[in-house]
Amino acid sequence: MPKIKSIRTRVWHWTGPVVPPQGNFCTNASDALWMKGDAMASFRFHQWLTCEIETDDGTIGIGNAALAPTVIKQAIDEWLAPLIIGEDPFDYAYLWEKMYRRTHAWGRKGIGMTAISAIDIAIWDLMGKLVNKPVFKLLGGRTKETIPVYYSKLYSGPIDEMQAEAEAAMNAGHTAFKMRFGWGPKDGMAGMRENLKRVAGVREVIGDDTDLMADAYMGWNLDYTKRILPKLAPFELRWLEEPVIADDIAGYAELNAMNIVPISGGEHEFSIMGCKDLINNRAVSVLQYDTNRVGGITAAQKINAIAEASQIPVIPHAGQMHNYHLTMANTNCPMAEYFPVFDVEVGNELFYYIFEGDPAASDGRLQLDDDAPGLGISITDKYLAHFDIAG
Ligand SMILES: [Mg+2]
Repeated sequence: MPKIKSIRTRVWHWTGPVVPPQGNFCTNASDALWMKGDAMASFRFHQWLTCEIETDDGTIGIGNAALAPTVIKQAIDEWLAPLIIGEDPFDYAYLWEKMYRRTHAWGRKGIGMTAISAIDIAIWDLMGKLVNKPVFKLLGGRTKETIPVYYSKLYSGPIDEMQAEAEAAMNAGHTAFKMRFGWGPKDGMAGMRENLKRVAGVREVIGDDTDLMADAYMGWNLDYTKRILPKLAPFELRWLEEPVIADDIAGYAELNAMNIVPISGGEHEFSIMGCKDLINNRAVSVLQYDTNRVGGITAAQKINAIAEASQIPVIPHAGQMHNYHLTMANTNCPMAEYFPVFDVEVGNELFYYIFEGDPAASDGRLQLDDDAPGLGISITDKYLAHFDIAG
């Protein structure tokens, strides 16, 4: 079997046109700070990391990471790449443990685990290409005819604009929707009412028989969430996402036990151990690890097993190929997040400008190709003029 010959990391900095987000676009963890100014600036990201792993037969597997790409590049280049060069990619479980344990003193969560994730995803793409099979066929195969997806955007703004966006998404065939909250604790009761008006406004457009989810992106706190939950109940949200910061597992557990709106989260949790705590504490009703951060596909599959045994569905964070493959291969993953193709705004859209091969949703579902090897994406040269690329 071919051995890993080299790893190439590149940071893609978008310099092309951007859509500025409006105020009250989406709450986030920085809202709790005293500073005035644009908390949204801390939420946007216009850089991305690609991680290409090449074996000595010339096959290249591609992984990626979205957040903090310049430091993740350094973690991979200086620490992780030397650990896996010369190794057999099919020893992926061993390689994962090697990266995890050799960096345990400073890695584990955050940057360290995100760097491991990027490499692990590239290794899975590589394995698929080497045996000429799509990744989901290596993970358990097809569990669904097609993958149901939910439309994930609806950032907070004027109600009529959100309603028009929801209507356009419905007309495009979407049957499930996720919106964002724009106001939090510092905005008091008036802000809480603005939040509720927008949930009511979107629900009015999409009707009562479709799934509606709402995301606070860690911009609230326990007190605020306890006060708003009963007011959200009439809108029958399928879940309320990340009401409090990721470290507050007890807070998640308390909110979820209230059983008013199912609580979801996990996109800022790391590793099998971190997700085990969310699961065992019944802190979430839906687990949403981000494969790009949680430890890649190798960790995600182990977490899937724990979640399945605990009857907690897994709907990974982000509409990206690695998540679609995991969703296809697991009965316990009922649907996938889907970011509509859009001009560069918050940064979620950037992968559409770096990669090609992502499937487009149609009638609220998407399909994976039984014959496309690996993850089925490649790096595109279509938008190169809009990037500064380092590495
Ligand atoms: Mg989210």
